[in-house]
Amino acid sequence: MAQIDLKNLAHSYLPNPTREEDFALHKMDLSWEDSHAYALLGPSGCGKTTLLNIISGLVKPSEGQVLFDGQNVTEQLPQERNIAQVFQFPVIYDTMSVYDNLAFPLRNRKHPEKKIRERVTEVAEMLELDDVLNKRAANLSADAKQKISLGRGLVRSDVAAILFDEPLTVIDPHLKVMLRRKLKQIHARFKLTMIYVTHDQLEALTFADQVVVMNEGRILQIGSPQDLFENPQHTFVGHFIGSPGMNFLPCQIVGGVATIGQTEIPLGEHTKHLSGTFELGIRPEFLILKTKTQQDSHEITIKSTENMGNCTIVTAEFAGHLLKIKVPEGQDVPEKTGFLNFPQQWIRLYDDGKLIEIERGSAHE
Ligand code: ATP
Repeated sequence: MAQIDLKNLAHSYLPNPTREEDFALHKMDLSWEDSHAYALLGPSGCGKTTLLNIISGLVKPSEGQVLFDGQNVTEQLPQERNIAQVFQFPVIYDTMSVYDNLAFPLRNRKHPEKKIRERVTEVAEMLELDDVLNKRAANLSADAKQKISLGRGLVRSDVAAILFDEPLTVIDPHLKVMLRRKLKQIHARFKLTMIYVTHDQLEALTFADQVVVMNEGRILQIGSPQDLFENPQHTFVGHFIGSPGMNFLPCQIVGGVATIGQTEIPLGEHTKHLSGTFELGIRPEFLILKTKTQQDSHEITIKSTENMGNCTIVTAEFAGHLLKIKVPEGQDVPEKTGFLNFPQQWIRLYDDGKLIEIERGSAHE
């Protein structure tokens, strides 16, 4: 497996791009470390497939370089790059047996039959294809065919990376959960460099140790699922990750206090240097809702509640804004009027959409 670096990379599908909006990918530098499991996450049209296809060589970038272990491969064809790619729809040979389909990428590279048998057996077992190894692929369900496609991507241990482009789209939801878990296990066992494109945050957060969040052709944040949840670097990431996403409230900050409408929220000593208009971000999970007034609590009006089984999502009006609050199962939800606390350690501040990095005395002051 290899480290993959993208240097000054940008891409436009137009022959003579001039304006910002002519670019599907804006200029970026990005390193994909060897043996990590990455998810490339973002809404439809943000450039995920373009980026993946640039790594595999299916698309040549209009600017910049692709390096595998320091070697410039930008001009190399996909077959010269030693990459495995799994697409949304199965790419298999219907007339061959499942075994022969899985063995194909190894036979193509003249691996000895004994080694092929070992590896095919191992991958088939992990994907629970061992029962159908001798069956013809044509006779199998769409799910099984996509599992073969995944297997064909996974059999080669000598590839620089395995790229997955929304590979579970056609899979039955129940099997999806199982396959996501399997891919994670396979990563832990084989230590492969994997890049997994998805627009589904659950898929990204369960599969990857590092998630790359994209929007409109730009990388907004690279981090662990916990980083993205606790410290979104951009308001887009706050909105996009989480269900529901982060709350954002426009506020005026002076002397370590945020004013929202007529309401004041103390932010702590570490924000005393800030002054001006910002956005205060807080996740629905971190707001504390009570039926009775508490110290530093603010009165809110409950607009609606939605029972989710293991929690209740409350929509409430606070200082002229609508907020989402996630109330844990078993905790009382007020009917009309509630009292809300904003724990300081979970408040994040944003300027022009970007997180303000503030030195704190301690993470939980
Ligand atoms: P999706 O999840 O819908 O596949 P994506 O995040 O993978 O979206 P891309 O398919 O990379 O996004 O598309 C990024 C932008 O480039 C979009 O505006 C798209 O319309 C454009 N685009 C993609 N492929 C081509 C192409 N072959 N020719 C011209 N424009 C393209």
